[in-house]
Amino acid sequence: MISKSIHGIHHVTAITGDAQRNIDFYVNSLGLRLVKLTVNQDDPTSYHLYYGDELGRPGTILTFFHWPDAPRGRRGNSEVIATSFLIPENSVKYWIDRFKSRQIEFRGPHKRFEEQVITLYDPDGLGLELVTHGSAQDRSVNVWREGPIPTEQAIRGFHSVTLSEEGYERTASVLTDELGFTPTSQEGNRFRYEISNVDGVSLGGEESGRANIVDILCLPYKQQTVIGIGSVHHVAWRTPTDEQQMVLRRNIVRAGLNATPVIDRFYFHSVYFREPGGVLFEIATNPPGFTVDEKAEDLGTGLVLPPWLESMRNDLEKVLPRLELPKKEDVLKKKRDTKEN
Ligand code: ZN
Repeated sequence: MISKSIHGIHHVTAITGDAQRNIDFYVNSLGLRLVKLTVNQDDPTSYHLYYGDELGRPGTILTFFHWPDAPRGRRGNSEVIATSFLIPENSVKYWIDRFKSRQIEFRGPHKRFEEQVITLYDPDGLGLELVTHGSAQDRSVNVWREGPIPTEQAIRGFHSVTLSEEGYERTASVLTDELGFTPTSQEGNRFRYEISNVDGVSLGGEESGRANIVDILCLPYKQQTVIGIGSVHHVAWRTPTDEQQMVLRRNIVRAGLNATPVIDRFYFHSVYFREPGGVLFEIATNPPGFTVDEKAEDLGTGLVLPPWLESMRNDLEKVLPRLELPKKEDVLKKKRDTKEN
């Protein structure tokens, strides 16, 4: 049966002004894997960086456009105001100690929906959270085992995203009627929606409880956002097949929203539309994924170009800034040093 529902978050794309500092923070401090270094397909003279679990599985992928000349973002309504990673319930102290020792400012932990939340900003000012949730146990597949964080404490992909909106009903109706979310809880001005089943059937296996939460935070008096460095550019929802993506697209258009045609992003296929509250959404297919042009062990160790840009490699390498990438040798060394238990 063709589903009328997305399965959860596919990726979150944000904007950085400093690609090297970005790599250092997400790989060395947060322990994500750089799974792809490529260029922005719409502007090949700028980098597009992808982080995630060991394979960059949908539900774990945080990506950045490197736009050093963009204006600074201004927080406000109509944006993804927080991108939240899932951590195990017993790892809060580990992360707090880690942030203290690395002089990374944070707040918390504070309690929200029975979960513990640590809030922080990345070096560009992007709003991040680490959130504990029982589902972390089932998501150990989403750990980057060769990263610097011990497996027991490591990030397990996304927990959720939070949208800041003036009101919530029109956004909520797109979430529930077109994307398949169910309202599950409310705390003050925060409204939570989850994908728990698709067309009445529980999502099983790896898909169950994976990055399937979105919160709407109603902030009626805040200014509108200006998207720039330190902002999320868009959030993408995942769908397993091209057929289901077409059904979702048709329903979105029927709901009166403008949607792009399907765009081939090489690692997935994409449809973009703006939800009524102003946040840019994307529907992205799970396949083909990041191993389509690199072996799993080589992911993120060099600049990769889509085939139609390969002939421009020499020119692009001249204009793209040099970056120090995580070394394959370091990964292999960690692998040797880590005792399997
Ligand atoms: Zn995207």
